Amino acid sequence: MKTVLITGASRGIGEQIARAFSTNGYNVIINYNKSEERAKKLGEELNAPIFKADVSKFDQAKALVDFAVEKFGKIDVLVNNAGIALPQKVLQEVTEEEFDNIVAVNLKSTFNCSKLVIDLMISNGGGSIINISSIWGQVGASCEAVYSMTKAGVIGFTKSMAQELALSNIRVNAVAPGFIKTDMNAHLSNEDIDDFLQCVPLNRIGSTEEVAQAVLFLASDQASYITGHVLNVNGGMN
Ligand code: NAP
Repeated sequence: MKTVLITGASRGIGEQIARAFSTNGYNVIINYNKSEERAKKLGEELNAPIFKADVSKFDQAKALVDFAVEKFGKIDVLVNNAGIALPQKVLQEVTEEEFDNIVAVNLKSTFNCSKLVIDLMISNGGGSIINISSIWGQVGASCEAVYSMTKAGVIGFTKSMAQELALSNIRVNAVAPGFIKTDMNAHLSNEDIDDFLQCVPLNRIGSTEEVAQAVLFLASDQASYITGHVLNVNGGMN
């Protein structure tokens, strides 16, 4: 049985990724940071262990990976999903503290968890790492410059790690969602959403399930010749 470690799996896209992998027969490790009740509920639903860790902190990410190995002996798939956005604002209003925080959560966590699983995957004969980027990391967004910067960074990291780890039989890919209805964008009004949909050829917002299925595919043997790829799940935006 394969094991998947999903960061930020207490809510939103990560929660649905956990469900998709569980349904497909994986051992699932659910990481959360603040949403303990949500994580507990999901853990009970999926009969999966949960572990609190702020994955932007190396020592906590290490404790998470150690926990996964203790539970299941190996990690076959890592999904670097944990992420935050800042309130939308012009760059002059972004504080240094906000910058440091979003870079830590969106980028350093991906570095931390990837670094920590690589030797485990190598000794296990291979594995798959999937990083969650965003459409904004590809095309940029006004008033979301730092978020976009982190998500573009995820793509650069994905492509580099894919090259570095190919001979170790570790595939590294990214999923770049468009607008997916979660807590992250719950503050947007229906009017904001309608405006946004003007740029979405499929003319609707996406579901967490649609992102989860893309992640599941990239982790599967059906994607065995795919590495360094960014899979868009965005309704046709470009
Ligand atoms: P969400 O509903 O706000 O959920 C964020 C998740 O990340 C929560 O489970 C949260 O856990 C976790 N998290 C945040 N900081 C963490 C930390 N330091 N350590 C561990 N976990 C942490 O957001 P979402 O929409 O599902 O977003 C998931 C990913 O998709 C993010 O990387 C986001 O950038 C990306 N994305 C989202 C969209 C979209 O439209 N929603 C579009 C493109 C990309 P706790 O609540 O337990 O702290």
